[in-house]
Amino acid sequence: MKPEHTPTHVKAPHGASTTEITWGDGARCVYPNTLLRGFCPCAHCQGHGGTIEFVPGGNSDLRGLETVGFYALKLVWGDGHETGLYTFEYLRGLSKKPEVTTFRTSEST
Ligand SMILES: [Zn+2]
Repeated sequence: MKPEHTPTHVKAPHGASTTEITWGDGARCVYPNTLLRGFCPCAHCQGHGGTIEFVPGGNSDLRGLETVGFYALKLVWGDGHETGLYTFEYLRGLSKKPEVTTFRTSEST
């Protein structure tokens, strides 16, 4: 697995409105939970069209978070929705959205 697709630390404080993921390449990305919910990749949210689109209006109160294997995070929302598997590669791709703030925690030379 590439370092940029490997989370080294995930911080999702209860009641917070953002989730913070630090990646193996030193990038620290702060994701608004509304963005994560809107981009829930499950078939229920996205249908079967093949394209991922932002779906507004979902409950964005992050209740829980589980690692699935070594490749994805499962996010559990306040309304009990938990079928979204966010692969690490997908999450890293989401960090390119303008709503996500990325910090560089270490400089590799
Ligand atoms: Zn979903």
